[in-house]
Amino acid sequence: MAEIVLENVVKRFGAYEVVHGASLEIVDGEFVVFVGPSGCGKSTLLRMIAGLEEISAGTISIGGKVVNDTESSDRGIAMVFQSYALYPHMTVRRNLSFGLEMNGNPKEDTARRVARAADILQINELLERRPGQLSGGQRQRVAIGRAIVREPQVFLFDEPLSNLDAELRVQMRVEISKLHKQLGTTMIYVTHDQTEAMTLADKIVVLRAGRIEQVGAPLDLYDDPANQFVAGFVGSPK
Ligand code: ADP
Ligand code: MG
Repeated sequence: MAEIVLENVVKRFGAYEVVHGASLEIVDGEFVVFVGPSGCGKSTLLRMIAGLEEISAGTISIGGKVVNDTESSDRGIAMVFQSYALYPHMTVRRNLSFGLEMNGNPKEDTARRVARAADILQINELLERRPGQLSGGQRQRVAIGRAIVREPQVFLFDEPLSNLDAELRVQMRVEISKLHKQLGTTMIYVTHDQTEAMTLADKIVVLRAGRIEQVGAPLDLYDDPANQFVAGFVGSPK
């Protein structure tokens, strides 16, 4: 079970508090989108769930287990970033397998996972290329492939498409949606793009200056936004 529960999660950088007691429940298998303006704390929240950033107060649990003191690598999560962070000198195949090899994953199982990810993302013909020989969209696919091979309980995406041009963004958005349907894994997706949020999300979390303003299904937020700020973010005329 990969439900995720945040209870009064606070983040301070020194004396500067950037997340002010966030509480949230994410159901197993849900596609949740965090939206809000730049600097509102989306990445910080995601990084705390990932264990890349310590929490200052509160509790985070994943699959019923409090993970406050659990190493990032033991949380069953995989994160996809905006910058692809691929190794330029390695082939795509090696980019996909490297992390598993480092963890001592058995060779055969690594090969199986790489083949499966390549099938899902349709990048079989790219496996012997290096990142420099790939288009932006192909690189982003490989970055997602690196998350898939970890077979995580939860995928975390931090604005994964914001470096792509508009057309490719739409295409990759559809692919991410398909990926979710195919795998059924819990996904949290950060964006400041309203269309991405409205089309991808089972549930949208609207953030403003380190606080959760409203949580709900896209149409519920559209029909019944809590305030003007939320209305603006979900494109509601209200
Ligand atoms: P978003 O992803 O929504 O654009 P962030 O989570 O990156 O926002 O940042 C939230 C706030 O926390 C911002 O004011 C940012 O400047 C601040 N912040 C983020 N990381 C650090 C850090 N390592 N040190 C100090 N302040 C930080
Ligand atoms: Mg961010």
